[in-house]
Amino acid sequence: MADLIQGETGTWEVVIGMEVHAQVIANTKLFSNAGATFGAAQNEQVSMVDAAMPGMLPVLNEKCVEQAIRTGLGLNAQINETSVFERKNYFYPDLPQGYQISQFQHPIVGKGVIEIDLPDGATKEIGITRLHLEQDAGKSIHDQHPTKSYVDLNRSGCALMEIVSEPDLRGAEEATAYLSKLRMILRYLGTCDGNMEEGSMRADVNVSVRKPGDAYGTRAEIKNVNSLKAVQQAIHFESQRQVTLIEEGKPVIQETRLWDPDKQETRSMRSKEEAHDYRYFPDPDLLPLKLRSGWVDEIRQTLPELPDQKKHRFMKEHGLSLYDATVLIAEKIRAAYFETVVETGKDAKLTANWVINELLGALNKDGKSLADSPVSAADLGGLISLIKDDTISGKIAKDVFAEMYATGKQAATIVEEKGLRQVTDIAEIEAMIESVLAEHPDNVQAYRAGKDKLFGFFVGQIMKKTGGKANPGMLNTLLKEKLDGK
Ligand code: ADP
Ligand code: MG
Repeated sequence: MADLIQGETGTWEVVIGMEVHAQVIANTKLFSNAGATFGAAQNEQVSMVDAAMPGMLPVLNEKCVEQAIRTGLGLNAQINETSVFERKNYFYPDLPQGYQISQFQHPIVGKGVIEIDLPDGATKEIGITRLHLEQDAGKSIHDQHPTKSYVDLNRSGCALMEIVSEPDLRGAEEATAYLSKLRMILRYLGTCDGNMEEGSMRADVNVSVRKPGDAYGTRAEIKNVNSLKAVQQAIHFESQRQVTLIEEGKPVIQETRLWDPDKQETRSMRSKEEAHDYRYFPDPDLLPLKLRSGWVDEIRQTLPELPDQKKHRFMKEHGLSLYDATVLIAEKIRAAYFETVVETGKDAKLTANWVINELLGALNKDGKSLADSPVSAADLGGLISLIKDDTISGKIAKDVFAEMYATGKQAATIVEEKGLRQVTDIAEIEAMIESVLAEHPDNVQAYRAGKDKLFGFFVGQIMKKTGGKANPGMLNTLLKEKLDGK
């Protein structure tokens, strides 16, 4: 599923490595006790430490460390017993310390692996290079005054996990599959909310091109790509730009570029001359971080079932197809909903169809999420039980579902109120067949002379008479018997 570019000189392969910044879910910041929730009023969540007042000392938040370990375990990664916080020095108006506390030579999490799902059902393993903890910077605001910029320090000091991948991705499709899977794992673990629009998950995309089999080419790093769509567009633009450059005999420069969604292009942001020398050194205010023995195992015990495990279990235990299982595990709440419906309705395949096609279809059309579903899992299970025990047909069930969705009523109530119970009485169905056949003697004759297509016509007529309530299986058998003269 690799992206290949046809150039003047042959076929080019696109190589991608990702650096993802994921904001840690924690009540307080990495080194201070100020709040860390999104959406607070400007500068409402800033302590003296975050504002870098002289003499303030950082105090490590245990919860943030736990979340990083949890994430490392979810990425099947090596957890390092000792890691070191270092100062990454640079000037930014929204970075009052003049440095960011990060991890450099000794990150808390080492090598790991993520399995990504490709659209054709195949999977591919992508190497994780490392995960380290670091502080976020504040935010400069330029659009509220004609001549002044403001600084909001709410984000200053919030804990980030930087998750770095190996250059194992081969184009836009794999890159977005990687981000989706990573986001899913973070959400399952409860370590990051994964909201790219709110900036709590941000991706830097490293792009290079090469002829298949050659060594890696020079990469450009694209910053500020904040949606899956933008990641795809930026990769398409940047890889094509590099192929054109190389084929014109010009070099690709290793630099940081920005994605401009309006112009649909990447632009150079920092050239090599201005390349940063961060002068990393161990932060003298913080001791090396040594994990208490046994802690990692304690955290391992509390890991939830992760998306891939759930997917395989759904296929094995519930007999679902890969496609159905993949759709149902996409969100934890969706998977839980499905399993609650199965408990009541007792038919996993039927449930998968109803959840995916009817319920998610209806919610999607309304722009609603599953959390706001007007139909509860138990109630959908109730509807499925009615189909299973032949109280209603699958076709009538769709009308009942629409009513449940609109009113929040239970299936059984609607079936009783509207008299939708399916007719399963043989004598009753036979009587209806007789009356329809009597009304259409010419068609009966034509059918018996070999025009079998008329069978559907008779079914339609009888269903019309019963308001669709005749049991379809019984109707078919009995009608066939009658027409064939048995
Ligand atoms: P830096 O610290 O300069 O950002 P790293 O070695 O940490 O450099 O690499 C950053 C990212 O670049 C990683 O995600 C890595 O996979 C990716 N990367 C490295 N080489 C290439 C390449 N040739 N093409 C695409 N991505 C690459
Ligand atoms: Mg980098």
